Amino acid sequence: MQVIQQIEQLKQVVRDAKRQGKTVGLVPTMGYLHEGHLTLMRRARQEQGLVIATLFVNPLQFGPQEDYADYPRDLARDCELAESTGIDVLFAPAVDEMYPAGNGKTLTFVDVEKITASLCGASRPGHFRGVATVVTKLFNIAEADVAYFGQKDAQQVAVIRRMAEDLNMNVKIVAVPIVRESDGLAMSSRNKYLDSAQRQAALVLSRSLERAATLLAAGERDSSLIVATVRDLISQEPLAEIDYVSLVDPLTMEALDRVESRALLALAVKFGKTRLIDNMLWEGK
Ligand code: AMP
Repeated sequence: MQVIQQIEQLKQVVRDAKRQGKTVGLVPTMGYLHEGHLTLMRRARQEQGLVIATLFVNPLQFGPQEDYADYPRDLARDCELAESTGIDVLFAPAVDEMYPAGNGKTLTFVDVEKITASLCGASRPGHFRGVATVVTKLFNIAEADVAYFGQKDAQQVAVIRRMAEDLNMNVKIVAVPIVRESDGLAMSSRNKYLDSAQRQAALVLSRSLERAATLLAAGERDSSLIVATVRDLISQEPLAEIDYVSLVDPLTMEALDRVESRALLALAVKFGKTRLIDNMLWEGK
């Protein structure tokens, strides 16, 4: 596995691979890798000729009060883990390489409207603008044919899909199911912030999603009742502070009154300073 930090060097590797007729699979990450990230990389490895994972904590997608400075970073560990999946390239550019004008400074942004208005977009103004902008840059640099994203960030998947469609990008978006710890907690680099009491308390997230799935499977279709049940369950956990619980259309992220077919139950909950997200996609039955 090659570790590349320069954009021009990555472009050369991509050109060579394309000349050999290889497809390019891209896995964008912010690093501090866990089994969720590695699952995306393995999937890309199975399906594509040249596999590039990127490791970049993108200042543009963090708000001023958020954890950009504290976000966990460990390049040596990430290199080992990424290499174990058999990918070809780990692209880990410095901030100045991606934003030569300075820390997240750029004159050009990609803004996806409406889909970004609710959920994490409402709680984190500017977040998806930062995501869409950096992902566009990565798609262009890597000439990605297929890009792999985790369903853990369901709104991100919807935003990127729509962006690729609206801007006629030559990339297919693949969403990979959420990878969980054995006790149900969705894997996240931010789980590292949790102390042991918060780690235990955070199990309420997957438990409450399961409860909602049980209600849906039993035929409950009233969105407000399902959301209220989930809110009640989470509120019983004293260390949990709800940011949002919402049942939405998985493509538009608009709230649903009733669950007719596909639906996404999405939640964001704080444990101390740590904000965790989780969700459940209901495919309809
Ligand atoms: P991040 O480094 O948190 O930006 O995540 C990079 C990619 O990995 C995103 O597409 C995430 O959705 C995905 N990802 C993160 N956690 C998980 C998980 N537990 N299961 C599946 N995918 C994940």
